[in-house]
Amino acid sequence: MFIDSHCHLDFPDLAKDLDQLLVNMQKNQVTHALCVGVNLPDFPRVRALAETHHNLFASVGVHPDYEDEIEPQAHELAKLAHHPKVIAIGETGLDYFRLQGDMEWQRERFRQHIRAALEVNKPLIIHTRSAAADTLRIMREEGASQVGGVMHCFTETREVAEQAIAMNFYISFSGIVTFKNAVALKEVAKSIQLDRMLIETDSPYLAPVPFRGKQNQPAFVRHVAEEIARLRAAELNDIAIATTNNFFNLFKIPRNGLST
Ligand SMILES: [Zn+2]
Ligand SMILES: [Zn+2]
Repeated sequence: MFIDSHCHLDFPDLAKDLDQLLVNMQKNQVTHALCVGVNLPDFPRVRALAETHHNLFASVGVHPDYEDEIEPQAHELAKLAHHPKVIAIGETGLDYFRLQGDMEWQRERFRQHIRAALEVNKPLIIHTRSAAADTLRIMREEGASQVGGVMHCFTETREVAEQAIAMNFYISFSGIVTFKNAVALKEVAKSIQLDRMLIETDSPYLAPVPFRGKQNQPAFVRHVAEEIARLRAAELNDIAIATTNNFFNLFKIPRNGLST
């Protein structure tokens, strides 16, 4: 079985086909998916998915690319995270690629998320792009290692991966690892320890080969696992078992599920 550790099933393009997407997951042995929040106004939709479907989970956070949001305070995020199926805080982090200028507001927003995670003792989902050094520094300064989490849609170097792992974080690979030109990332996927690895789609974005350029969906996470197995000369089943166990361990999910 496979788990999609990061998707956006509440986004309208996916939500309109939800029933079909859930069937596709089942057909591909994708047993669970984590629906990641990107802003607070849409959070009720994300939470509702987790409440309605036993195999969907939710997280709460304000994405660093959403610049026009009211800045969330740690206590507010923590309050929304007091829900059995809200299993993480995020996505949060830093993105100096999409937005430029004075990014102090982004760093402050990131700090609020880490403080919320510490308050509720739930792991973080971290998005980092062109900002690895500041991301790691703030994680360190705020004590993110106490709760751990995942570096989602990882595209950084092996050194960055190892520093995050040393801070109690997991590394999640998306469809990017299947792209022919992702040579350096393939090396990271080949070399980091299996007990710190997760897989994700980040759907509707970043569909893996052979669906590159099309709309992504959780069922396609299987192709990410297949590529990682190929790179590591491992059995697909071993990648499936490890990434599934890692997901349940990181998010503290009992094998018999969570009740709402
Ligand atoms: Zn992201
Ligand atoms: Zn995302």
